[in-house]
Amino acid sequence: MNPRHHPTEDLLLDYATGALAEAPSLLIATHLTYCSACRGEVKRLEAVGGALVEQLPATAVTTSLDSLFARLDEPAPAESAPPPVQPGYEWAPVPLRPYLPQVPWRSFLPGMTQIPLGAEGGSLRILRVQAGRAMPKHTHNGRELTAVLKGGFSDGGKDYFPGDLAIAGDDDLHTPTAHDDGECICLYLIEGRLKLPGWLGLLLNRFIPH
Ligand SMILES: [Zn+2]
Repeated sequence: MNPRHHPTEDLLLDYATGALAEAPSLLIATHLTYCSACRGEVKRLEAVGGALVEQLPATAVTTSLDSLFARLDEPAPAESAPPPVQPGYEWAPVPLRPYLPQVPWRSFLPGMTQIPLGAEGGSLRILRVQAGRAMPKHTHNGRELTAVLKGGFSDGGKDYFPGDLAIAGDDDLHTPTAHDDGECICLYLIEGRLKLPGWLGLLLNRFIPH
């Protein structure tokens, strides 16, 4: 099934031009492994970027051409095969495999375990959520990006399945809930801090590493 929830045009443009940090780039790269439409769009944006470089003043082009020719003199790196998938991590798409398994599953919130991933640009983790389990209602400082890897969840009347990218803004108070028919595994990024209102939030905000 093709994904139905896609990155915004701005996110794809930032990805194509290399302006995105490592953590959000991983979210986009994960979505692209599922979505041929967005892969095509990234190719188109990269071609537009290449055409713009050709229109730069000659001095800027000369400098970049010099460095390009310098690089062409170096031997080309061997085409490397994607890292093999580790047993038990078959849900991990190619862009995530170099990060796995760094650490074992750790507890996160009731009914949820996590693998924190070290990537620059926010709190990035893989979350495994039991069937039917909801995140406590929360908001965050900064954008929240979620890519489904296995199973599915619902949030704000929408359903998300493998390959779908869910984007929440920093004032969205929401309660994503795993579907009832099985566990949900997703790649989950908060670019700022998670904020859990109420006593549970007071308790957990002290213990959840940010
Ligand atoms: Zn897409």
